[in-house]
Amino acid sequence: MLPAKLKATLLGSQKQIPMNQLTSMPKDAIPMDEKQHNYISKKSLASPYFPTWCPGCGNFGVWTAFKNALIELNMPEEDVVIVYGVGCSGNMADFNRVYGFHSLHGRAIASASAIKMANHKLKVIVVAGDGDSFGEGLNHFISACRGNHDITLLVHDNQVYGLTTGQTSPTTERGEKTKSTPNGAPEQPINPIGIGLTADATFLARGFSGEIGHLTQIIKAAIQHEGFSLVDMFQPCFTFNKHNTYAYFKERVYHLEDHGHNPADKFAAYQKTFESDKLPIGIFYEDKNSRPPMHKTYPQLQKSPLVEQSIAEINMGSVFDRLS
Ligand code: SF4
Repeated sequence: MLPAKLKATLLGSQKQIPMNQLTSMPKDAIPMDEKQHNYISKKSLASPYFPTWCPGCGNFGVWTAFKNALIELNMPEEDVVIVYGVGCSGNMADFNRVYGFHSLHGRAIASASAIKMANHKLKVIVVAGDGDSFGEGLNHFISACRGNHDITLLVHDNQVYGLTTGQTSPTTERGEKTKSTPNGAPEQPINPIGIGLTADATFLARGFSGEIGHLTQIIKAAIQHEGFSLVDMFQPCFTFNKHNTYAYFKERVYHLEDHGHNPADKFAAYQKTFESDKLPIGIFYEDKNSRPPMHKTYPQLQKSPLVEQSIAEINMGSVFDRLS
């Protein structure tokens, strides 16, 4: 039963509070369209905290490419939200000065999808690791692909749980010895782009933190894509993954765009995901036109984002009566 005082507060002592008062802007507020924008820049991104990542960590390359992409896209600060997962990559929450949200482990994609549905004017970008995205959050990854939620997922894929000091992750190679599988990982690794293709994602790419310029361009393309976009990024964990090193990737990676790959060819993209002697990076698949992003399928969001809609007509009284 709701305490009488709380109920009175919520219901305004049975007098209906004009709810639009709760949503009306202060008299001196400047309408969004007339605001002077502050654009994301090297200076605006600078946080007082320097990364705590291990020296040589691949996160530094990803971080640089991501910041370059944000700066080159020239977006107003207030239009961008970054949602962080939990892990070494998620610690980037402290190192970027932006609007952001540090989510629970495995729930970054779900949080980002909700933010986009609440205010679809925002660019919503997720920064998370392979454990967060393809382990605890795998169902959210698949749902985001299927729903074509207009968010960008940047996965720092180091093929190990780094923050918890080196356990097998969903992308660890089969047979790889880690703290949690001293006799070798028994399972096949997840194929993130393959799963994304079968779940009908509309933008799927892969990058390498050792190629910052190339990764910057891929991240920019992903952010500009309307609909769900994934950039799975090879990110060497210098401390806990002695197998998938910079040298390992440098010997193997090649650029899809230099080898005639057509990102509109879904079947070719799928075949490319199984290459293991050489590792393709670049845009595997992009579908610009087949279906709209999730927020555009809701008629009630066509007029304006949910956060800009009045709640004056919503009467919660019957709900509270039922709970009391
Ligand atoms: Fe980077 Fe690995 Fe160190 Fe984490 S544990 S900061 S992923 S090198």
